[in-house]
Amino acid sequence: MRGLYIHIPFCAAKCLYCDFYSVPGKLDLREKYTEAVIREARAYSRQSFGTLYIGGGTPSLLGPQNLGELLAGLYDAFDLSGLKEATIEANPESVTGEFLYIAQDSGINRISLGVQSLNDDELSKAGRIHSAKKAIDALTLAQECGFANISADVIVGLPGQTWHSLEHTLRTLTGMQVSHLSVYCLSIEGGTAYAACPPADLPGEDEQVELFERARTYLQQRGFAHYEISNFALPGKECAHNLNYWRGGEYIGLGAAAASHVKGSRYKNAATLEGYIADPAGARIEQEWLKPEGKLAEEAMLRLRLLQEGVDTNNIAAEYGCEKVAGLIERLDGQVALKLLVKQGTRYLLHPSCVMTSNRVLAEVLA
Ligand code: SF4
Repeated sequence: MRGLYIHIPFCAAKCLYCDFYSVPGKLDLREKYTEAVIREARAYSRQSFGTLYIGGGTPSLLGPQNLGELLAGLYDAFDLSGLKEATIEANPESVTGEFLYIAQDSGINRISLGVQSLNDDELSKAGRIHSAKKAIDALTLAQECGFANISADVIVGLPGQTWHSLEHTLRTLTGMQVSHLSVYCLSIEGGTAYAACPPADLPGEDEQVELFERARTYLQQRGFAHYEISNFALPGKECAHNLNYWRGGEYIGLGAAAASHVKGSRYKNAATLEGYIADPAGARIEQEWLKPEGKLAEEAMLRLRLLQEGVDTNNIAAEYGCEKVAGLIERLDGQVALKLLVKQGTRYLLHPSCVMTSNRVLAEVLA
C-alpha cells in the first residue's frame, strides 16, 4: 500500500512552539498553490494509493472551493478508487460546515483536529488562536457532518499545564467520541519563539514525563491502545496512512517541503511557497538512494515506534537477506541487555518504561 501526502503550508499565525514548515498569512496565494499541487500531481504517471493525508500547516485554511478543486485534481491525476483512508487536518478557528461538506463529498473520511488543549490559558500561552469553546464547536460540527473517524492532537507539557487541566482535556475529548488521539510532548526547538523566549511556567522534564504517563494510563483505561509513541486509538481506528510510514512503506508527498520515499529513493521538495508555485515539478532539492544496510536500519527504527508490533528480525531478514541483518540484531540485543528493549522470539519491542526516552534507543538502533 502506498500513501499520498499533500502539504498545505498556510497558517493564520505562527504558534510559539512551531518549527514545521508553515507560512503565516499569504492567504492570497492559496488558489495558485492549489493549482501548483495539481501540476505536480500531473507530473507523476497515473498511479494508485491506499491512503491520502492532507496535512500542514492548516489545510482548513484552503477554504471549500480550493479544497474541492484540489481533490478533483488529485482524483483526475491519480487512481484513488481504492483509498482505504483519506484524512484532512483542520484547525478549530478555520473549519466550517461547508469545508467539511466538500471534504466528505470528495471522499475524505477522517478528520484530524488541532485541539492541543481545552484550557484557554494554555492555548493562549502557546500562541494558538482558538479557544477551548471553538475546539469543542469544531468537534461537534465534524460529528454533525457525519464524520465518525475523528482524531485530535493534544500537547503535554504546555506552560502552566497540570494534571487537572490535562485530564479535563482528555475527559472532554474521549467523552465526545474522539476515536484517535495524538499526544505530543512539547519540545523547545531552535528557531521558534519559545526558544528565543522560553515561558517561565513550563513543566519540568520529570513533570512532563509524569503528565504523559498519567495521560497514557487514563486513555488505556478508556479502551485506547497506545499503538505508537505519540498515538492512541480505539480498536480499528489507528491511522493507516501513518502506519504505512512507520512500517517503512512508500509514499509520495506533494507540495512545498513535502517528502517522498519511492523505490529505495528518498527526496524532498524545497520549503519555499513562491518557488513551489513558480515551478512545482522542479521543487525537488534533495534525493538520496538508500543502501540496503541504511534502509533496513531505518525501517527497524521506524517499526520500533509501533509499541505492539515492534520489529521482527525474521521479516527484515526475509526482505534484505540474513547476512545484512547481523549488525542490526547485535545492536538490538545490546539494547535488550540494557533493558531498553524487550525481546519476544525474533521480535523486539520498546520497553514500556522507555517510551519517553525512546529517542536515544532509536538512535542506537539506527547507528
Ligand atoms: S497551526 Fe500547526 S503548523 Fe500552523 S503554526 Fe501552529 S503548530 Fe505550526
